[in-house]
Parts: sequence; C-alpha cells; structure tokens
Amino acid sequence: MPSTRLTYRRRMPYNTASNKVRVIRTPGGEHRYLHVKKKGTSPKCGDCGSKLAGIPALRPREYSQLSRPKKTVQRAYGGSRCANCVKDRVVRAFLIEEQKIVKKVMREAEKKNKR
Ligand SMILES: [Zn+2]
Repeated sequence: MPSTRLTYRRRMPYNTASNKVRVIRTPGGEHRYLHVKKKGTSPKCGDCGSKLAGIPALRPREYSQLSRPKKTVQRAYGGSRCANCVKDRVVRAFLIEEQKIVKKVMREAEKKNKR
C-alpha cells in the first residue's frame, strides 16, 4: 500500500486558516492536496443579525469585484437591514409621526376650550 502522507504544495508549513487543503485524486491516479480558498460569510442584518437574503456570501475582495446590483436589494436599507427590520422601522416612524399630530391636535383643542 502506498504512503497516505501528503505534502503541502505551497511554501507555508503551518495548519492555519489560510492554509487549508482538501485531498484530491489527479487524473494520473495520484492523491495530492488541493489548497482551498476561505469561505465567505454572508452579510448580516445590522439590527437582528440574521443573514440577508439575495446577497451572496463572498470574500471581501470578491465583493469589490462585484457590481452594485448584485450586492444589494432594491429597498430602503437594502443590503444592510432585513425586510422585517425595515418594516418595523417604517411602522415605528409612522407611529411617532402620528403621535406628534395627535399631540398637536390635542393642544389646539385645549386652547380653544380655555377661550
Ligand atoms: Zn433584521
């Protein structure tokens, strides 16, 4: 049985995050290491921390080489906050504005009553 021990194919002898390998079999029938690139992480929602749908998980360099429409979704806060959090923000802003209007109306009604 041939030896199952393999050697790195690059001049980096340590088992670090950037030096990960996978065993492959070459067309010639020999086993050797294939150096694999780091996996990208998908962008997360800044409020709830869930993964953002519609945006690929890539390494930073790969994002820089990607066009804008592939990195965002067409919505307010698209590519930064998830749809549910944007919905919450919209509702919250609306309710705050409504509260202001109600306060204003109440104040005016009070003024009229005093006269
Ligand atoms: Zn969210």
